Amino acid sequence: MQALKGFKDILPDEAVLWQQVESTAREVFRRFGFEEIKVPILEKTALFARSIGEATDIVEKEMYTFTDRNGESLTMRPEGTATVLRAFIEHAMHLRRPINRLFTVGPMFRHERPQKGRLRQFHQVSVEALGADSPRLDAEVIAMAHQLLVELGLKAELQLNSLGCPECRPGHRQKLVAFLNRHREQLCQDCQRRVESNPLRVLDCKSANCRQLNAEAPAILDSLCRPCEDHLTLVRRDLEALEVPYSLNPFMVRGLDYYTRTTFELLTDALGAQSAVGAGGRYDGLVRQLGGPDLPGIGFAMGIERLVLLLQEQNGTPLPGPDLFLACLGEPAADYGFTLLQQCRLAGLSALMDVQGRGLKSQMKQADRLNSRFVLIIGDEELAAGQAVLRNLTTGEEHRVALNDQLGDLLQTVGGADGAGT
Ligand code: ATP
Ligand code: MG
Repeated sequence: MQALKGFKDILPDEAVLWQQVESTAREVFRRFGFEEIKVPILEKTALFARSIGEATDIVEKEMYTFTDRNGESLTMRPEGTATVLRAFIEHAMHLRRPINRLFTVGPMFRHERPQKGRLRQFHQVSVEALGADSPRLDAEVIAMAHQLLVELGLKAELQLNSLGCPECRPGHRQKLVAFLNRHREQLCQDCQRRVESNPLRVLDCKSANCRQLNAEAPAILDSLCRPCEDHLTLVRRDLEALEVPYSLNPFMVRGLDYYTRTTFELLTDALGAQSAVGAGGRYDGLVRQLGGPDLPGIGFAMGIERLVLLLQEQNGTPLPGPDLFLACLGEPAADYGFTLLQQCRLAGLSALMDVQGRGLKSQMKQADRLNSRFVLIIGDEELAAGQAVLRNLTTGEEHRVALNDQLGDLLQTVGGADGAGT
């Protein structure tokens, strides 16, 4: 039996990097006042069709949709925003806080062609800030996305655009449709159809011809109404005040219909065609569109797989091993070691020992292979003298530690180095 195409097992070596991504995200989000929300993976299909948009790639051809035993059409969520907003509305969360700052972490499902950094089950950390249309909130959210990458030690380019609002979009749409009709024969089959159904989508097409044409298409940025223009100006001013570097990309359109005004993407050139590590934007009409109060919001999502790939490529960090390996010579030493192992673990160290009665040489090899930071060597004679030898595997330094003083010596040395054991 094998895993499904585009579905991936995350083995322990890689899971360590996932933990790094998730814990860094949680820490950064906490500092920005974001709270975790956990939501289901399965929803009614209509939720996604109504929010993402019927004429988008995701809804048209990428969703895992099926009829359940009650004959109801359900979909494995392809993204997080619709679900979080459904929960926000269902629990009247706008009564809970004036601005709800929420994040969630979990799997998403899209039936795409699998390749490096593109899976059918992938994972996102995603955030939503609901309840204010202030450009300051946009800057905060974008600065938070930027900060997460900084703290992961990753480099990505931030691109910013505005998609306007229901006031100014129709004007742009008209210009765009006229332009596309003038060049209709250059468009791919899909895009010829999109000119009527969803012309903005054409700007997102990956085919070479369409892309060439799109570079000359009328940009929304040039059609923004006054309030949208002012909003963008203030977002930019705040980003500059926070020293978040960005560039303006008037041709960026997102693959989901719900975006208004501010949109942004975080791009890298280290992942081939999969250049976006994260993306997001404002969606001021969406809560109401889903049946909730008329409240604005902004959010973003980052793909964990792509962040992990970048970590692997940019750092190649060696995997952290246990703090301590207990190497025991002889049975009394092993018996003593086993209780010491428990004490070490209760004291907060990650500690391991051999459980198969292997010889000392083989135990030392194990410690090395595990990338343990320290080895404590306990022989029967040392044990009788209440002592053992502690070796730092990074520096090779050795010294004797007493075994009879509630581990004070041991914990101080092993637990003291670079915060391990805490
Ligand atoms: P792309 O242009 O690469 O298809 P997208 O615009 O469809 O990305 P979003 O819907 O904005 O992506 O999702 C946000 C992030 O989720 C992306 O920047 C990416 O890191 C990640 N992501 C999206 N689809 C996939 C996928 N199929 N496999 C892995 N990660 C994904
Ligand atoms: Mg996509």
